[in-house]
Amino acid sequence: MAEMSNLRLITSEKLSRDPSIRFAMSTRIGGVSPEPLGLNLSYRVGDDPANVAENRNRFFRSINFLESESAIPHQCHSSNIQRVSQPGEYEACDGLVTQAKGLTLIVTVADCLPVMLYDPAKSVLALVHAGWRGTAQGIAAEAVDVMVKQCGAISSGMIAFLGPSAGVCCYEVGREVAEAFSLDEVEQRDDRLYLNLKKANCDQLISTGLSKENIEISPFCTICTPQLFHSHRRERNQSGRMMAAACLVNHPGS
Ligand SMILES: [Zn+2]
Repeated sequence: MAEMSNLRLITSEKLSRDPSIRFAMSTRIGGVSPEPLGLNLSYRVGDDPANVAENRNRFFRSINFLESESAIPHQCHSSNIQRVSQPGEYEACDGLVTQAKGLTLIVTVADCLPVMLYDPAKSVLALVHAGWRGTAQGIAAEAVDVMVKQCGAISSGMIAFLGPSAGVCCYEVGREVAEAFSLDEVEQRDDRLYLNLKKANCDQLISTGLSKENIEISPFCTICTPQLFHSHRRERNQSGRMMAAACLVNHPGS
């Protein structure tokens, strides 16, 4: 599709090798909304709903997913994980777990960290929205727990992708936020404190039994990469939202 040729997506190197799973995250590139919204995918940021609908259409088509077959959480910075098998909107949770093939899990982000977890042996998928609050409450570990206890997954075989998010280069936090994390997950430069959200989530996954070599971490910081990403910290109330989407493929190879 010519009109979609300028859509730019973030993918995972590890996961793109496996035909039984599909994952992609949108950027701000390739949308119809006026800048700075670009490819904004949220109806909740004051964007024209017709533009959002077209942006979503472009994103879903570009990755061959159906919006009508998607499970979308109403995120609330909690550590609540919901196991789902049907498309629809899910109240008051920040992560979804599924074993249903063809069901697309979604999280919406702009600086918060999208965490994708996949157990190839048991075919269990999770997608998590991890901001500092959810991370401090252990949401990534909670997702692993649901995958293991409710779906029979095994953490040592899981593959994880930690997407673009606010990076330790830019993510300044107050002392009360920093105190919710271990010392080595916060950097001090001059008199300021910077949270390493990716490390905090990576640490959490390792503590639940994932092996370090199965965790892929995107190098991108959303705050200081304005050409690619929406950033709530950078653009405040003007900021659009991106989506990460993941799906267990029905018939790998077809
Ligand atoms: Zn940065």
